[in-house]
Amino acid sequence: MSTSPLSIDVYVSPMRPYECPDQLGEGEVATWAPMSCTLISGATEGILIDAMLTFGNANEIAAWAKGFGKNITGIYITHGHSDHWLGLARLLEHFPEARGYAAPEVAGRAAWEVEFNKATKYWTSRFPGELPEPPVVPEVLENDEILVDGQVVKVIHVGQGDVEGSTIFHVPSSEAVICGDVVYNNVHMMMYEADEAKREAWIASIDAVAALNPKIVVAGHKSVGAPDLPRNLSASQQYLRDFTAVANRGGTVDDLVHGMLDLHGERDQPHTLWISARAEVARRA
Ligand SMILES: [Zn+2]
Repeated sequence: MSTSPLSIDVYVSPMRPYECPDQLGEGEVATWAPMSCTLISGATEGILIDAMLTFGNANEIAAWAKGFGKNITGIYITHGHSDHWLGLARLLEHFPEARGYAAPEVAGRAAWEVEFNKATKYWTSRFPGELPEPPVVPEVLENDEILVDGQVVKVIHVGQGDVEGSTIFHVPSSEAVICGDVVYNNVHMMMYEADEAKREAWIASIDAVAALNPKIVVAGHKSVGAPDLPRNLSASQQYLRDFTAVANRGGTVDDLVHGMLDLHGERDQPHTLWISARAEVARRA
């Protein structure tokens, strides 16, 4: 058994346009957020965390991951939002010896999203021709410890992120946490499903990550090249608190968007801020 730390490598797919049917705000551009896939590897084995969305994403991840020359034993999903696991079908074609897994609450949400898309075409209409039909839903992972070359990776059921029932992956040997959408890195944070009470729970989830005292913090949505540092924890909490503070001033969607851009204008993906602001103003109406 190796005792050297497991390696953490991160692939980021850049922000890109998509076919958005929604009415856009003044100056708003419909882009999909940059996303990450993480390879956790030892001397011979590796696992991937998150599978992203499109055939193109999966092909890119596979080409990148194969370059490390590891035996990919599994692909694990952090949370149920479809942009983190619809790529699984194509990824498993590239790695036929691997299987896709997620915690029960994550697999449950993923299964729900399949039915949601059947009813609404939410995903397939936004990414026509780019998604598997039918998709491959991750299998239920019953064990919270995954071994990579004999070293432990722990699944932690942290709960609220940008969706309820989120998990994170803690790699003790490398003092790393792969956070999915519990943490964002220089990208506007999605609050379509997170009202003020859920944002408070989300801030507490980030406290739980910080309590692990990690040196490497990988966000589910991060800018290309943004460093995977612990400061992403406090920065994400500050963003959530600022959103509530600006929303509490009242006002329009436009007011909320521009109030947040004044504070966090350096972040990628303002389209997500517009979506969050429309949802928040509607909740408060
Ligand atoms: Zn996401």
